[in-house]
Amino acid sequence: MQKIAFIGLGNMGNPMAINLLKNSHDIIGFDLSKEAIANFKKAGGKTAATALDACRDREVVITMLPSGKHVAELLTDEFIGNLKPGTLIIESSTIDPATAKAVATLAKTRNCFMIDAPVSGGTAGAQNATLTFIVGGTQDALQKAMPYLTCMGKNIFHAGPSGAGQMTKICNNLLLSILMIGTSEALNLGTANGLDPKVLSEIIQKSSGRNWALEVYNPYPGVMEGVPASREYTGGFAVDLMTKDLGLAMEASLAAKTAIPMGNIAFNFYKTWSEEGNGKLDFSSIIRFLDHKESN
Ligand code: NAD
Repeated sequence: MQKIAFIGLGNMGNPMAINLLKNSHDIIGFDLSKEAIANFKKAGGKTAATALDACRDREVVITMLPSGKHVAELLTDEFIGNLKPGTLIIESSTIDPATAKAVATLAKTRNCFMIDAPVSGGTAGAQNATLTFIVGGTQDALQKAMPYLTCMGKNIFHAGPSGAGQMTKICNNLLLSILMIGTSEALNLGTANGLDPKVLSEIIQKSSGRNWALEVYNPYPGVMEGVPASREYTGGFAVDLMTKDLGLAMEASLAAKTAIPMGNIAFNFYKTWSEEGNGKLDFSSIIRFLDHKESN
């Protein structure tokens, strides 16, 4: 049993922390949201009054926060200086590689270890402990993290040095956003021409247009149970978070002078959808944005 602090108990952090609890680890959680704290307590978790109270004297600190800004504001030099020497920080939010590298350097100077370990697999993957972890950092730090990552995920990849986990995750989400938009477009076109969305989905799933969005995260309401589309697009991966990830992809494309024209279009769609008041909805709700544009 290891003493672990878990900071950020939202849509992903809550089920991830619960899976560590199920593996008999001693977890103290913290979140700024009272609702998130209450949900974690309801599941049997202990919480602390502040992030530092949760992290002091812990062997492992796991963070699952919205963006790089939140991570940089929490994991400051002073904060890390208050951790036990040798503490392993597993930073699992999706953030810019530069912040991941900077925090890893701070951790090293304070005799701690830090890996960037963003995840893929959505809230269902977090609940079922089937997440894919995409790790950046040293092999040694990854080996230390393995016993915890395997409580929360099924596939653990070493992408390269510090920041490589984040860069890989950004590429994945760039592609995911494009696949979700394409899938939505195909489903809208088919249903507008009289096709049954369930039959259409079943056929494409066994044809050359198959992809993850269609197979496990169908955006059309009523086609698939247990996905955000079946519950008014709540409780999944927020439009605002996808917009953030596409912003990271655009920053990376500018830095490397590599064009991502489809990514730019996806960014504009998600940003506009968010500005129309839909930022908290799941990203599969983009099907409504496309439909809405059609009807105008
Ligand atoms: P979320 O908004 O549901 O949860 C984030 C939590 O962090 C919130 O409860 C918020 O109150 C808390 N928080 C913010 N600042 C804090 C601070 N300083 N101290 C403590 N708590 C703080 O977001 P999520 O969907 O759980 O996503 C978390 C991260 O995982 C994001 O970076 C996202 O891009 C990434 N991600 C999400 C999914 C998904 O399907 N939701 C999938 C893969 C990766």
